[in-house]
Amino acid sequence: PRKNSRGWDLHDLDDLGEIDTARTPFQSHQWQAKPLLVAEVVGREMIDVINPARPEDTVGHVLQANSEDAKTAIANAKVWDVPASERASALRKAADLYEENFGEFFAVLTREAGKTPMDAIAELREAVDFLRYYADEAERLAPTDPRGIFTCISPWNFPLAIFSGQIAAALAAGNAVLAKPAEPTSLTAFVAVTLMHRAGVPQSALQLLPGRGRDIGAALTGSPQINGTCFTGSTATAQTINKSLAEHASPDAPLIAETGGLNAMIVDSTALPEQAVRDIIASGFQSAGQRCSALRVLYVQEDVAEPFFEMLFGAMDELVLGNPWEYATDVGPVINEGAAKGIRDHIAAARKEGRVLKELRTPDSGTFVAPTVIRVDGIKDLEQEIFGPVIHVATYRADQLDTIVDDINDTGFGLTFGMHSRIDDRIDQVTARLNVGNMYINRNQIGAIVGSQPFGGEGLSGTGPKAGGPNYVKRFTATAAQHIAA
Ligand code: GLU
Repeated sequence: PRKNSRGWDLHDLDDLGEIDTARTPFQSHQWQAKPLLVAEVVGREMIDVINPARPEDTVGHVLQANSEDAKTAIANAKVWDVPASERASALRKAADLYEENFGEFFAVLTREAGKTPMDAIAELREAVDFLRYYADEAERLAPTDPRGIFTCISPWNFPLAIFSGQIAAALAAGNAVLAKPAEPTSLTAFVAVTLMHRAGVPQSALQLLPGRGRDIGAALTGSPQINGTCFTGSTATAQTINKSLAEHASPDAPLIAETGGLNAMIVDSTALPEQAVRDIIASGFQSAGQRCSALRVLYVQEDVAEPFFEMLFGAMDELVLGNPWEYATDVGPVINEGAAKGIRDHIAAARKEGRVLKELRTPDSGTFVAPTVIRVDGIKDLEQEIFGPVIHVATYRADQLDTIVDDINDTGFGLTFGMHSRIDDRIDQVTARLNVGNMYINRNQIGAIVGSQPFGGEGLSGTGPKAGGPNYVKRFTATAAQHIAA
């Protein structure tokens, strides 16, 4: 039977010691990343990578791929034409190598992407789980009909897990992959691809193209030679990619997109407040709110709202903000200054209108945004996802539940939803009509587990099939339609 990665326990002294020993050599290491292509590249533009929590810490340098490199990569890409079991073995070997190199991953995830130790552990586990799960899927489905060349465009918020998951699924089906990591997190991607190659994935089946979206994005989404695109990121970028594919790619080449969310949670008067508060803190502020699954709009039944918010704000006061390298840190920085500015502007506008109910203090340097709670009338007040540690709260009367469900559905997004209640009928009343991909009852609404909780949304939140689920790899094969019908 399939097993998920064991991970590390931050409350276990042995595990802490192991992490310390393994990551310390990388505490001031500088990584040098470059395009990993069949053809060697030299003399490209080099950019510096700076730690978002500590501007004085240079994490490494990235040699940037350009549009010529993207074209050469397409020309040199070759499908991975070996028995599925051989591909599965290499993916499993990569998973083992990821686990062996956990110290390097924890260091680069923290210093490049601002991940706290808890976030880094969760991310490495998920990456390993994706590799092993899709290896199993390769053997279960034994696909012999890859689509051809797949472009995998991944996000900076899960620079290892989602990056590796997209690639592993495309490779499991036998495709050749062109991996375009998010600009802020090319170093993590470089470490990952180096290990995948070492595990036996051929260079021609997996090429890495770090670089600016505006330089190489068009070469990748504008080529008729690309047979499929896998994208995780904002809804707006997915729409741009879709437009380019519609103009240039074969109508048969799929876009598999996992995009944004305007995720709500409902806490009714029967909820266990301590548990709900703990789960709200995790859902809204873990990973500094930079998860597409994160809680954005919290509805609390008005009868219990006042003491409930008091408890929530008290719990927020306990949060430690700061250098994510430290084990005590709960909330690290957001990814960069541009992201921080957008979120701070949103908070400032709410402050002007007197709608900020709670705001923590941030450290003096680094791209931090304080965990914040903003009052709204409902989800309709939000036009878009605010990708940071900000929870919007509203209160409701018991007879307004159906209206809330309609309002959530009307946003057009449909990614995650959470509900805390001890009345089954009420839970059913809500969940039966909600159009979202992942619903979480009486728990937090982040951290879907590969293989048990396939993850993905509907509407503006994505195309499906769900990542980490039994339909995902099929979509990367040429006979997807037949497979799914069967
Ligand atoms: N799979 C992640 C989770 O369940 C979210 C993925 C994302 O943020 O893109 O929290």
